[in-house]
Amino acid sequence: MSDSSASGRGEDNKSGPGAAASPKLLLRRLRQALAAPGDGQQRLDQIVTLIAQSMGAEVCSVYLIRGKDTLQLSATEGLRREAVHEARLKIGEGLVGVIARDGRTIVTARAREHPEFRYLPETGEERYSSFLGVPIQKLGRTMGVLVVQNERPMAYTEEESEALALVAMVIAEMAEAGTLIPRAPNDGEEDEREPIHIQAQGAADGVAIGPAHLHEPKLLLPNPIAEDPVHERARLREALGRLRTDIDTMLDGDDMADTGEHREVLETYRLFANDRGWVRKLEEFIVSGLTAEAAVDAARTEARMKLGTASDTYLRQRFDDMDDIAQRLMRRLILPDGGREMPEEGAILIARALGPGELMDYPRGTLAGIVLEDGAIGSHAAIVARAMEIPLIVQAQSILRACEAGDSVIVNGDQGHVHVRPREDVVTAYEEKLSLRMQEKASFAALRDLPCRTLDACEIRLYMNGGLAADLPSLNESGAEGVGLLRTELHFMLNKAMPTREEQAKFYSHVLDKAAGRPVNFRTLDIGSDKVLPYMKQPREANPALGWRAIRVGLDRPVVLRMQLQAMLRAASGRSLRVMFPMVAALAEFEKARAMVLEEVERLDMDVPPTEVKIGAMLETPSLAFAQKRFFELADFVSIGGNDLVQFFFAADRMNERTAGRYGVTHPAFLGLIRMIVERCGEAGTELSFCGEAAGRPLDALALAANGIRAFSMRPASIGPVKRALLAADLAALRVVADEAEAGGSTRVRDALIEHCHESMIPI
Ligand code: PEP
Ligand code: MG
Repeated sequence: MSDSSASGRGEDNKSGPGAAASPKLLLRRLRQALAAPGDGQQRLDQIVTLIAQSMGAEVCSVYLIRGKDTLQLSATEGLRREAVHEARLKIGEGLVGVIARDGRTIVTARAREHPEFRYLPETGEERYSSFLGVPIQKLGRTMGVLVVQNERPMAYTEEESEALALVAMVIAEMAEAGTLIPRAPNDGEEDEREPIHIQAQGAADGVAIGPAHLHEPKLLLPNPIAEDPVHERARLREALGRLRTDIDTMLDGDDMADTGEHREVLETYRLFANDRGWVRKLEEFIVSGLTAEAAVDAARTEARMKLGTASDTYLRQRFDDMDDIAQRLMRRLILPDGGREMPEEGAILIARALGPGELMDYPRGTLAGIVLEDGAIGSHAAIVARAMEIPLIVQAQSILRACEAGDSVIVNGDQGHVHVRPREDVVTAYEEKLSLRMQEKASFAALRDLPCRTLDACEIRLYMNGGLAADLPSLNESGAEGVGLLRTELHFMLNKAMPTREEQAKFYSHVLDKAAGRPVNFRTLDIGSDKVLPYMKQPREANPALGWRAIRVGLDRPVVLRMQLQAMLRAASGRSLRVMFPMVAALAEFEKARAMVLEEVERLDMDVPPTEVKIGAMLETPSLAFAQKRFFELADFVSIGGNDLVQFFFAADRMNERTAGRYGVTHPAFLGLIRMIVERCGEAGTELSFCGEAAGRPLDALALAANGIRAFSMRPASIGPVKRALLAADLAALRVVADEAEAGGSTRVRDALIEHCHESMIPI
């Protein structure tokens, strides 16, 4: 992106005498100059002099970011030398500040007329009219600004602009490698070895303390400029060849499941590694004069610049995947064996962003926590981290700058805190917290094989929620009796294209293998609202949560639903299948969906068909609680989706912070609804469970159990705490407390329940 609002191209067409702005020539000259010994400042001085000469510019300056928001003139040819290290601008201030803020090029023939113009009197730059400035950037992180200026109003050419951008990339590489950027005395930067606390966003719960392991140990490119493009191209091809072979070997490996997210990610990587457009781009950078590794990095930087601040999650996720493969290629070019250093056990992984494949490359159990400078709560890596129960923080600004390999790091995924090199007292506080959690975990493990029976002898069944292959090891670890909710859409969301029937069948069969006879409720695709499939068009809707989603899409687009049902039936050969439909709001919808399953069963052409097919529904809309009796008679089982049911019952958006916490399952009105559902299911003999997030919160689970729920499905990590609370509870006594609180006019049954739990030593 460039802003050429006042460029005046063609006014006075060419720059100074001897202008030689071809990127190739400029880089060659730079390489020669930089081959000579010198410190960072000397190199920077050489660079600006050489650019000025080569481009026929009267001024060439480098401004570097210092501290949080200041740009400092760090080298100049043409402006007053006394101003070096003295002249400063805020980010966003003047043309230079705007380039740093927005990460975009500005070119203008009449700088003084530009609305953002602001001049620094100490530099003597008021004489210069023409201005071309580019950001010095690496992977979206702006480090400074490179500027050329001329006295006469004139137009800089596209080629000059490109050449300057390329040199800026080289400067960024050298800065990263530490071979360039001088530190000015007293530049006001905070001492980076001090303890640092970053408030970010928690994306997977849990607390961890450990040594930092840099996901990308700085892959330093001390000299990004190539001597011999032919040689560089050969290196690139050789590294690409090795990368492709490695991916194929991994895909063919014995330990690679036939299905699951790891395989899908690697298959996407194989596509990228063979992408002609990408390889052509890399070769172009090499022809411009970069080394093979600098070319890979330049392509990454360029892609990130193009991505800009796009909020499109699909684009961002594709970028993360592409970036992932680019880094693998870089490692193969820089490290002779292409390997990644494995972290010690209990390490905290620090990365800018992380693809799900990269996360799964770390052996299970090695990482204690993860901190990402970018990343998003809904990203694929976050989904996998939650499945692997690794505390994860995203959007931890400047973590990469703040943290070095081996630094002690605390991750608090519950509240989004990161502490780097924490003070002793902070460490002690967290160690206590952690040790308590460890003790708790050990005590939960001891409960694992006990039947879940309350003090008043009510048997409660505990199941887990899942959606990925990475979730399945938790079945044994948590002692869950089965999968009460398999969110099949996660498998779809991780795929780059609609999974074929065979791919789906493979995955479902893998799930049933791992469940080893325990029941699995396969929920059909629950898309729409916040769950978007990148390859499926969703209409724009004013109220997507109330819109075209889940079963509504399935009934209107029966091809997709039928294909999924066929895949489930095939996967269940010789076993029991439980199909569950999401967001059913009316009996007619359930009848139609159920008929579809029965038709598919009729049509089955299998040697060994499923032994039985049970058909159930999620109860997520209040209307279904009031449905005709026939609904409860037809459904083999019903699972209350409390997340949506609370949202629709109270008309309170579950995604909106202002409304999400206002109402909950302990509200007397909601408990009344639960009692009604329990009764209606009981009358019809329909199996009933509860699978929203509330199932995993001990107090909520107690309140629900006291009102008749006998089966819960929750995140695997919640099974221990919920079981512990249930084992210590007398549900009849809890019910009396809740009823009395309600009858006494209290709208907050919750407080009464909490008090009772404290008095009765029920751990909640
Ligand atoms: C629910 O709504 O409670 C539920 C379990 O479904 P999801 O959270 O996937 O919408
Ligand atoms: Mg739901």
